Amino acid sequence: MKAPLIISLALLFMGCGIIAEPEHRSRFELVDQGNIVPPFSADSAYSFIQKQVEYGPRNPNSEGHRLTRDYLVATLKTYAGESMVYPQHFQVEGYEGEILNLTNVIAAFNPQATDRIMLSAHWDTRPRAEEDYNATKQLQPILGADDGGSGVGILLELARIMAAETPPVGVDIVLFDGEDYGHTTDIDKYFLGSRHWASNPPVAGYNPRFGILLDIVGSVGATFPKEGYSRRYAPTLTNNIWTLAATMELDNYFLDIPGGLVADDHLIVNEYAGIPMVNIIHYTSDGNSVEFPSHWHTHMDNMDVIDKQTIDAVGRLVTEIIYNRITPETAADDN
Ligand SMILES: [Zn+2]
Repeated sequence: MKAPLIISLALLFMGCGIIAEPEHRSRFELVDQGNIVPPFSADSAYSFIQKQVEYGPRNPNSEGHRLTRDYLVATLKTYAGESMVYPQHFQVEGYEGEILNLTNVIAAFNPQATDRIMLSAHWDTRPRAEEDYNATKQLQPILGADDGGSGVGILLELARIMAAETPPVGVDIVLFDGEDYGHTTDIDKYFLGSRHWASNPPVAGYNPRFGILLDIVGSVGATFPKEGYSRRYAPTLTNNIWTLAATMELDNYFLDIPGGLVADDHLIVNEYAGIPMVNIIHYTSDGNSVEFPSHWHTHMDNMDVIDKQTIDAVGRLVTEIIYNRITPETAADDN
């Protein structure tokens, strides 16, 4: 994911008009339903992160990328069922004429439910390490244990849980490819997977209540401010998620402070698919600034930075939302 593009993107979208949460606010309420919530295993999620990292860097067209794609499809099929996983293959022209073979990996749980939510992360890793202190290694692809791997690991653990216990709401896991491909100043080469997904929707009229994006969610001492685009496009949902986190005593991670704007896949989903999506992402901010952790876009982004307590905090929060915070549609429609 991407920080320095904030200004250019803000300008890019300035003329678009902002339609935040146009429909019923009740769709974004997170009310205790009194349901039993299955346990989230941080150990299991950690293993899912480790597995990805063992394939090596997952930058487009690399061997690690191909192996991880096949692993994600196979793993999700074991949990969602063979016919409920859709690998959305596509090609994009990369740098120097290289054709990138990319795949968004999509899995549907409780497929009969018309009332759905969407959970996303990006599964590719960066082909460069511009922020690394060692200049000779800046052109080498990163392992991305945190930047990419952590969000995917948490979602795979959720897939495992949902296979064992059907969630009360429909849940679609959408793992985007090609999020982190572009050079720092080249916005067009970022978010390749979410752009393709938004302009080629696999399901016509797809209209989940909302989406949650997990990016850089696994390292020790992570802090998640209320990200700027999330506040802009999904203010009620953002506030409700952070309030729930406080209720769960996770407010040392989920800081009740406004964060600066971070361009990420959720921006594409909000802007082009019209689905309110919140980004849970680790950075620090004074309200406008964006500062990512020191391992960001460096070769330090490996398993050494991954922390089970952070994974547990994020995983438990999302599990709680899925199993115990969505008011059934009939009641919600009364508002
Ligand atoms: Zn990144």
